Amino acid sequence: MVSRVVFGRGSFTQLGEIITPMRLNERAPFIFLVDDVFENNTTLLAKIPLLYEDQIIFISTKEEPKTSQVDILVENIVLGSSVLPSGIIGIGGGSVLDLAKAVALMLTNNGLSQEYQGWDLIKQKGIYHVGIPTISGTGAEVSRTTILTGPTLKLGINSDFTPFDQVILDPELTEGISKEQWFYTGMDCYIHCVESLTGSYLNAFSKTYGETALELCKEIFLGTLTPSESQDKLMMASWHGGMSIAYSQVGVAHAMSYGLSFLLGTKHGIGNCIVFDHLEEFYPEGVQLFKQMKAKHGIVLPQGICANLSDKQFDIMIDVSLSLEPLWENAIGTDWKNKITRSRLKDLYSKM
Ligand code: NAD
Ligand code: ZN
Repeated sequence: MVSRVVFGRGSFTQLGEIITPMRLNERAPFIFLVDDVFENNTTLLAKIPLLYEDQIIFISTKEEPKTSQVDILVENIVLGSSVLPSGIIGIGGGSVLDLAKAVALMLTNNGLSQEYQGWDLIKQKGIYHVGIPTISGTGAEVSRTTILTGPTLKLGINSDFTPFDQVILDPELTEGISKEQWFYTGMDCYIHCVESLTGSYLNAFSKTYGETALELCKEIFLGTLTPSESQDKLMMASWHGGMSIAYSQVGVAHAMSYGLSFLLGTKHGIGNCIVFDHLEEFYPEGVQLFKQMKAKHGIVLPQGICANLSDKQFDIMIDVSLSLEPLWENAIGTDWKNKITRSRLKDLYSKM
């Protein structure tokens, strides 16, 4: 679990006060990984408490985080200073939060980040890392994984050392997101809830968190909230949805969306929406509600993204998807291999 968290509108201004006691010495900088959407946002940048050798590195989120990107960032940080940093602070959406977690881990674990994709392969505690989300939904701020695309897999570095040491939840930072992006990333949270609550891995912890997040999603996406209420509640929903899957697992939409993302570079939020729209047979109620939410917000999803793919390309997506065994087991049960065939997946992908 995340050890420390503050929540509140404007709480970002407490960052300096929070990290100062964690500074190792004047030579050990804090490295701020910041989504480059904020590169010209002087209001936000002015609140980053830079001292001594501290550094801001702007991160492009056009593509999702890659293992090679983590390795290059780590190499540059190591070469740029004679000592390890005091901490890594990620400011952005799921992409930047995941990068911050991975960089903090790889600064103290030898080798390449691709060697740690999987479950509980990290051996050493990472350096102090702080997560500050600027868009809500992924639950990356609370989860024990950092999802990376490597040479052969899109798979997380899942470990007890992955969660942030500190999170700052300031809903004001989520101002200014486009309606589409708000919806796609918000639906990631909604889909986490549906997949967790209907899965066989469900337990009292995941159920309680999942039900709370699901109710919040209904208020946010089908109710009539003010913009600031909606921002506050989506930040809470994201956290609780993330906690729900931390205690259980995601399911079919995520397993298939990873395939799209690996082959076509489709981003996580929109990829989940494209897949989930076609999953009535697995999640009848969840998909029906999703379609209502989509209609209410006038969201039109891309169609035909798999229309011109070759058999080989379908095979790549199917391989990536089937490699995510815990997700299928959670969604379908222990005999999932008898029910989920390659041709069934190809039929589903062909509709997207
Ligand atoms: P993202 O981080 O890629 O950001 C989406 C877009 O929103 C970007 O263009 C970004 O610049 C923009 N943005 C972010 N904050 C903004 C703001 N305040 N104002 C304006 N624009 C803003 O998207 P995401 O959906 O948050 O994250 C997706 C990533 O999260 C994927 O890489 C996915 O694999 C990962 N993920 C991780 C977990 C986990 O548990 N670790 C869970 C789900 C998803
Ligand atoms: Zn997700």
